[in-house]
Amino acid sequence: MIPEYERKPELAKLPELKEQKEKELALLYAEVFGAPPWNEAWRCSSCNKFYGAEYSQGQPSPCCSTLLTIAYPEEETIDYIREELSNPSSQIKIIRSPENQLIVFAWGYQIENTKKLAQKKWTQSEEVQSKVIQTIAKYTSPESPIFYISEVGVSPSFRGNKLGLQLTQELLDFGLSLKKPVVFRTNWASPMMRIAKRLEMSQIMGPKIEVINNEIVKTGEIAGFLDDINSDRTLFISLP
Ligand SMILES: [Zn+2]
Repeated sequence: MIPEYERKPELAKLPELKEQKEKELALLYAEVFGAPPWNEAWRCSSCNKFYGAEYSQGQPSPCCSTLLTIAYPEEETIDYIREELSNPSSQIKIIRSPENQLIVFAWGYQIENTKKLAQKKWTQSEEVQSKVIQTIAKYTSPESPIFYISEVGVSPSFRGNKLGLQLTQELLDFGLSLKKPVVFRTNWASPMMRIAKRLEMSQIMGPKIEVINNEIVKTGEIAGFLDDINSDRTLFISLP
């Protein structure tokens, strides 16, 4: 069965995010990242560690017994989304279900140059920043702007319908239409890995994967280098 929103994508999408929709977007954001493979449902604010849905709000954290709070509180998440979308080049794509429920989001924006990207996304390590800059420099001038696909999320109950693929493709096509290299960062266990493969993006950092019996497994090979801060991270690029 082809869902209604796939047959009428134009009706299901809004060209831009309306202010009153931010709350809905923040709720979906928390739902997406609270589910596998991220399992960031609750947070220990002392250690900034995340815990999955098997824990509950107010429970003492396993790390230090600080009481767990929601990982992505609404107001904080709205602030983050506003900051992300405040860039004038931001593009946001969403899909709604036939019941008008927000079920998929994807956004990206232009970043001035590779150094700015590295400083923004790898705040913890100048060493990793320079590795990222050197790696991307093999593909594009470090002074040139790039289009960064920042966040893609699909409601857990609507996964497997290629909706994430659809919106990622739209952002990729948009970035390439500006004649900019398109970059995104993810995690080897994320469904975004399959999407990157489908879109024939080049992996330039992190563990390589293959899909066996519908499960993502590491091949043991490394693309480029491993991120010392979080060795699960992967980075992809597509050139115009
Ligand atoms: Zn803790």
